[in-house]
Amino acid sequence: MNLHEYQGKEILSGFGVRIQRGIVATTPEEAVAAAKKLTDETGTGWHVIKAQVHAGGRGKGGGVKLAKNLDDVKTISEQIIGMDLVTPQTSAEGKRVHQVLVAEDVYYPGDSETSEFYMSVLLNRATGKNMIMYSTEGGMDIETVAEETPHLIFTEEVEPSGLLPFQARRVAFNLGLSGLAFKEMTKFVTALYTAYVKSDSSLFEINPVLKTSDDKIMAVDAKVTIDDNALYRHKDYVELRDKREENAIEVEAGELGLNYVDLDGNVGCMVNGAGLAMATMDLIKQAGGEPANFLDVGGTADAARVEAAFKIILKDPAVKAILINIFGGIVRCDRVAQGVIDAYKNMGTINVPIIVRLQGTNADIAKELIDNSGLDVQSAVQFQEAADKVQAVLA
Ligand code: GDP
Ligand code: MN
Repeated sequence: MNLHEYQGKEILSGFGVRIQRGIVATTPEEAVAAAKKLTDETGTGWHVIKAQVHAGGRGKGGGVKLAKNLDDVKTISEQIIGMDLVTPQTSAEGKRVHQVLVAEDVYYPGDSETSEFYMSVLLNRATGKNMIMYSTEGGMDIETVAEETPHLIFTEEVEPSGLLPFQARRVAFNLGLSGLAFKEMTKFVTALYTAYVKSDSSLFEINPVLKTSDDKIMAVDAKVTIDDNALYRHKDYVELRDKREENAIEVEAGELGLNYVDLDGNVGCMVNGAGLAMATMDLIKQAGGEPANFLDVGGTADAARVEAAFKIILKDPAVKAILINIFGGIVRCDRVAQGVIDAYKNMGTINVPIIVRLQGTNADIAKELIDNSGLDVQSAVQFQEAADKVQAVLA
């Protein structure tokens, strides 16, 4: 689950990570009130207005702007709230901005003593350990840094027992810090790592981490991804999900208990089991098609689930054919076949050809049911045969 910057910062702050302070606002009036409150609390004169969408590169797209007075706060918020923000990480249509974060300006005017660093915490799948990745080159595209100056990116691998003090010091040292800033950075890294583990996150990306002119270290931006499988341990995080930021069909599928991922192709897939689903997508591609989705209906492919899956797949207007590929191990194939037929009849007209391959227990009865159903559904026995039939209907 991806979070907004303001939500990620709140979590970090809860674990003692210093952050650029801010208040979220959904209207220009709220933004002005937030700015006043921040001035009272922090003494800041200037504010940054930051679009809250699930995409990076907001600064480049005009989604992060400096306001030097309350009039600026109002006019900038008016511009940003409701805009479709296009950044290097969004589609050409952009992402609709529903709220802004009004934050204290932490780059003090005329200040040349600040530095921006990059820092992320993530799992290194090759070693099975968490690692801290960091760089002196903050504030810019880390991909560009990785490409052009890879020696400026450092990593610190962490044993499962936890981050050791010397590791935090090494990070501060490699970032070229000394004195108070060095101490502040070790505290920052330590708190950040604790926050990563305790919040069950799968990614923290803080770009930039700022060193202020008075040697404070703070998170100015925060990209936080929480591991969905751990959400049961964090009931308070569940409400942080912003469904407006997610693919609408995927959200609906999730609510129906279907594992669905929207893809760009034209062949809808309905499969049981993630492994078979992956293999099915491969075969579709080999046969010259492109999968329109990944869909694992799970173990109990009864009529209700098959119907739900049909509806989800057909929401994607790009779908030109549907391949159902189900292995009847625990669930009997004849039951699934009946489910397909019932779902089909229930839905009335389905305007795309359907190819069904059922293998396993009672596969022969299932094939008979499909063949005698009188519906526009073709059966296939072999995997390759199913793929060929898909190709034939697309041609
Ligand atoms: P991103 O573009 O989506 O990564 O958004 P960031 O939160 O990283 O903000 C983009 C840029 O805005 C940062 O790299 C900073 O240079 C700038 N910025 C952020 N906060 C402040 C601030 O308090 N004052 C000033 N002057 N610039 C800021
Ligand atoms: Mn950033």
